[in-house]
Amino acid sequence: MKIKNIHQELKLYKNLEELKDFEQQLIKKAVDFLDLSYAPYSNFNVATAILLENGEIISGANQENASYPLCICAERVALHHAAMRFPKMKIKLMAITARNNARTDLGPIPPCGACRQVIAEYEDLLDCNIRILMKGNLDEVLELESIKQVLPLGFNSDFLENS
Ligand SMILES: [Zn+2]
Repeated sequence: MKIKNIHQELKLYKNLEELKDFEQQLIKKAVDFLDLSYAPYSNFNVATAILLENGEIISGANQENASYPLCICAERVALHHAAMRFPKMKIKLMAITARNNARTDLGPIPPCGACRQVIAEYEDLLDCNIRILMKGNLDEVLELESIKQVLPLGFNSDFLENS
């Protein structure tokens, strides 16, 4: 038996000022998109802003349903929204933020496991890494250079090919 190590180093910025202007702007857009969240059950609003290579900014916010399993996360809303409007357009940057009125100490909000899988699929489809910046209502911002940093040993289409 051998031990397989999985090790990742993630960038954690102290505040928005440590980011470039366009990165700060995208996070602020995501905060604006929180108003598009429909979360009457969890009261946990999440929003995503995606900057495409062509400069377009795509919105996404979580959409809940009284039939709870039908709820969909902001990240997937935004990714599918982008795919509908600009098929195959590469993603330059993705910003994720959240708001929970009961909490004033939210740090960066990472994508759930399902969204990690979907983001990984888009990285493969678009043949690019998708950089992600995450910020809650605290100052710090966490960066992922690729979703695969937090989805090691992920499932992908390679396992389905018959070769
Ligand atoms: Zn999710």
